[in-house]
Amino acid sequence: MSARLIDGKAFAEALRRKIGTYAQEFEAAAGRKAGLAVVLVGEDPASEVYIRSKGQAMVAAGMDSFEYRLTAEAGEAALLAKVEQLNADPRVDGILVQLPLPEGFDEDRVISTIDPDKDVDGFHIVNAGRLAVGEKGIVPCTPLGCMALLKDCCGDLAGLEAVVIGRSNIVGRPMAQLLTQADATVTVAHSRTKNLAEVVRRADIVVAAAGQAELVKGEWIKPGAVVIDVGINRVTLPDGSARLTGDVDFAAAREVAGAITPVPGGVGPMTIAMLLRNTLVSACHREGIPIDEDAL
Ligand code: NAD
Repeated sequence: MSARLIDGKAFAEALRRKIGTYAQEFEAAAGRKAGLAVVLVGEDPASEVYIRSKGQAMVAAGMDSFEYRLTAEAGEAALLAKVEQLNADPRVDGILVQLPLPEGFDEDRVISTIDPDKDVDGFHIVNAGRLAVGEKGIVPCTPLGCMALLKDCCGDLAGLEAVVIGRSNIVGRPMAQLLTQADATVTVAHSRTKNLAEVVRRADIVVAAAGQAELVKGEWIKPGAVVIDVGINRVTLPDGSARLTGDVDFAAAREVAGAITPVPGGVGPMTIAMLLRNTLVSACHREGIPIDEDAL
């Protein structure tokens, strides 16, 4: 039997509409729009595409988007000065420095210069620490998006066996922490895990974030499991054309799983929606305007 498709695109669109309504209420109460500043260093074409779509999404949701471009030659000192300036800018509720930075830049130093209350990516060590100890803070957008899909799909996650493949600071690690907070029993698998197939086989929930095309095979999936595929891999086909694929063998897994996210159209759209959410929540906190965070 074919698994239910988890339509992240539709979910994200609905969430963005809801955020748009809240953003209007914010503007009426604060007398200004919530604002996100995006900083791009250098000329990475993929980053150009990402920041353009983030900016468009902000404006479509009724928020301000401020874009700043620095050359790689300007160096890290210029970037740190820009971040400090944005920390002090009252129009700016969220700061996003597009990663990866060009060679020679210390990403950790740059991220730790962002005001943690404006760190809408949730990468600052203060926000990572808050998540680790279960305190309220800003949570990275991709795992937050995965959790929203999972809660919508499964409801209560308590007691479920969850396997997270990947332990990066931006996806795997925070994902495992969120699942633990939701009372799932969590295993984190990574590149040194022995017998990944066996580990995945016991999972009611599989979150694949390894960045390895079709790493997870259909026969590894427990019948009825929920599969969240975070991976985005560009694969070149024999005819030279390119195709995006996830970390899961979708066609095979779909025959066994209970529900599964497609790539594209699953987790990807949720990441931008959660960036809008984090910016709006940060704006409300900064202006002392109440917001029902759990509704978003
Ligand atoms: P990363 O390279 O920082 O981390 C990959 C993790 O996977 C590591 O912890 C590594 O130990 C683990 N891993 C690698 N190979 C493995 C293997 N064979 N078996 C088990 N574990 C293995 O990557 P990341 O930034 O966490 O991103 C992971 C994937 O998610 C990438 O494909 C990335 O493009 C994608 N991604 C998607 C979104 C989105 O919005 N959908 C957002 C961020 C990342």
